[in-house]
Amino acid sequence: MNEQDITSIKQLLSNQKKIVIVPHKNPDGDAIGSTLGLYHYLIKGNHLVNVLVPNDYPTFLKWIPGNDVILKHDSQTKVCDALIENADIIFTLDFNAFHRTGNMETVLANSNALKIMIDHHQAPDDYATYMFSDVSMSSTCEMIYNFIDMLGDTDLIDSNIATCLYVGIMTDTGSFRFLSTTSKTHRIIAQLIEKGANNTNIHNNVYDTNSYERLQLLGCALSNLKVIPESRAAYITLSQEELNKYNYKKGDTEGVVNYALSLNNTVLAAIFIEDKQEGIVKISLRSKGHFSVNELSRAHFNGGGHTNAAGGKSYLSLEDTVAKFISILPSYNKALNNE
Ligand code: 5GP
Ligand code: MN
Repeated sequence: MNEQDITSIKQLLSNQKKIVIVPHKNPDGDAIGSTLGLYHYLIKGNHLVNVLVPNDYPTFLKWIPGNDVILKHDSQTKVCDALIENADIIFTLDFNAFHRTGNMETVLANSNALKIMIDHHQAPDDYATYMFSDVSMSSTCEMIYNFIDMLGDTDLIDSNIATCLYVGIMTDTGSFRFLSTTSKTHRIIAQLIEKGANNTNIHNNVYDTNSYERLQLLGCALSNLKVIPESRAAYITLSQEELNKYNYKKGDTEGVVNYALSLNNTVLAAIFIEDKQEGIVKISLRSKGHFSVNELSRAHFNGGGHTNAAGGKSYLSLEDTVAKFISILPSYNKALNNE
């Protein structure tokens, strides 16, 4: 996004607009934090703003300021479709292609609204009038901070905006540890704390509110952990039966894949989660260093993401998906052993 784009967007936002903000399906902390952070900013400009998410998200995100305004497309389809059809501007946040919104894909693609993309995923589609895409960014929340900064409005950042943006930066950087975390990220975080983000409460609300069953499910996942030393890889499986046994709720498996990556000498980690309702196996991939799970997922598992964190899906059975993963590893052995 250049100076001219910023001037045009300023002009665009200088009078009241009907605005819709949309994140990707299965929204995570960055998706919810960035959409609500932008929401709180835009309503200060007297715009009519709605946040529409494709489907539900984890309970550990449901305390975030503005949570109550969120509309869910899967359960409130008509209302959401009408808002999209009547919107002047649609902000698409934290995703790079309409299909990442699941069933919202068609209505978004058919909409005549002006689109503004703010996103940090690789290989973005070319649908937006204004495209703010930067794969080097830690999070979409960091980009929303920069967007507000470019518009000259950091003075408008209050504790609500600060809290929302802190959540997404924290969750997408693994609490400020991933490679994407820069000194600039920390400076922004410092600003957000000064503007009212209560960092201790935020960490507590997101990470220290586990149910007993979630911890039991984690125990099950860890006992299913397998290691493939020659590929420096480790993976975890969770079958639908196991998920049911521990009363699985959305978000319960978030972060579990990181335990596999935390194993000494592991460069590649995966978790395979059976979803009988959708008829897929949902895959999360993580890596250390230069090994690109984005490329691996694009090549073999209908997905994508970032170099060190990507997702995908498989239409094979859980067993066959794992067998496929194991069978492709040898072709990556050289890269994995060079890390
Ligand atoms: P997670 O493994 O936590 O679901 O996702 C890791 C990263 O990959 C996130 O940035 C997420 O947006 C992206 N991602 C997850 N699933 C998919 C997918 O099916 N397709 C694509 N393109 N990206 C995904
Ligand atoms: Mn993100």
